[in-house]
Amino acid sequence: MTATGPDDIIEEKALPPKVNPFLTSSTECPICKSEVPWHHIKPSIYSERDKDVDLRPRTVKWLKEGYSEHHPRLYYMLHCSHCHFTADSETFEAPSNQCSLSAAKFSKRFTALYTQNRQVKKIVTKLSSGINVLSLDLYQAVKLHLLAIFQFQLFDEIAKKDAMNIGRYCLRLAWLYRDIYELDTKKKEQAGRIIKLIRSLKKDWPLIPANEKTALKMAAQYYQTTLEGSYAVETVYDEINLLMILSRIHMKLGDIPEAHTFLGSGKAKFRNFERETSELMRLSAQADKAAQSRRQDDSPMPKKKVSDEQLSEMSTDSRKLKFLTDEVQMLFEDVRDEWETKQKEKANKIIEAHQDKPVEELRRILLHNKIDKGVVLKLYPEQTKKKGLFNIFD
Ligand SMILES: [Zn+2]
Repeated sequence: MTATGPDDIIEEKALPPKVNPFLTSSTECPICKSEVPWHHIKPSIYSERDKDVDLRPRTVKWLKEGYSEHHPRLYYMLHCSHCHFTADSETFEAPSNQCSLSAAKFSKRFTALYTQNRQVKKIVTKLSSGINVLSLDLYQAVKLHLLAIFQFQLFDEIAKKDAMNIGRYCLRLAWLYRDIYELDTKKKEQAGRIIKLIRSLKKDWPLIPANEKTALKMAAQYYQTTLEGSYAVETVYDEINLLMILSRIHMKLGDIPEAHTFLGSGKAKFRNFERETSELMRLSAQADKAAQSRRQDDSPMPKKKVSDEQLSEMSTDSRKLKFLTDEVQMLFEDVRDEWETKQKEKANKIIEAHQDKPVEELRRILLHNKIDKGVVLKLYPEQTKKKGLFNIFD
């Protein structure tokens, strides 16, 4: 991709690094062919650390002094000021690469939607007004993320199948919403502007991801669509990776049973993959041994099921996946313990208020008050019926 190549850097002001932490390059818009600037903070001067449950880096560590007022996450999107097409830097040049549409069809349909659909034009115009890609703040970054989500949602081939990008944009939008309260010094002002913007868009875009929670829910929904239908999910590695992201997002949302299901499914797939890898390694070693002994009598070499390169790749993937699933498992245990404590506290308050009720009734009241079934059963285990004299009266 040209926008990331060092040769494309067309402007890097000769100012001391303390004054200019930015790199500005440019790329061609895939829709209208205009030149689009890409302004972003030099990756060599910061690193993002301390990841939240949903992978949002909580802190930016600056490797040189004097940059702390900047926020690298704001510069994630590229935006064409002519046709308003917006996407992240990896996707911008070839937005249809991860879906079944051709580049020409994507471009044609994008232009037609913008020029012929009044509602689309209204939303796109509103979201792209006042954007200065050379100087972004949280408000503008939120607008660009919403714009990218809205534009990609217009394509069924993407939104209903290869939805990885929309999932990622929704997740990053949720991070920005959180950033407003955690990082921004003008949080009240920024939050007020965003609320006003969302209100003005809601009529034409009823399902707009309007806050952190809805953005996270939407991210989970699009990642799940991708998991079920996208051809971009090619390998077991991709699949497990997505399952771990889904588990993390549900943990952040407080949907612990759901997070557990995704984690369990990822771990089961990993165990199969690990078994398959070690079996193939065993067979490969066996074939090597057989080949050695047959070399003397010129008989044909035994064929291997997979090449040594493939096997080495599988073994690397297996190590990475072990790390990945172990990390989410540990995180899950912490989050679940905290969640279970809160659920029990809530349940105990309800129980106190209904002390006179029989156990069956209490179970029903707790479930009705959104106490998880597992927690209710821990508090009031169902009696397993013993076979015996009394059963004949049942
Ligand atoms: Zn354009």
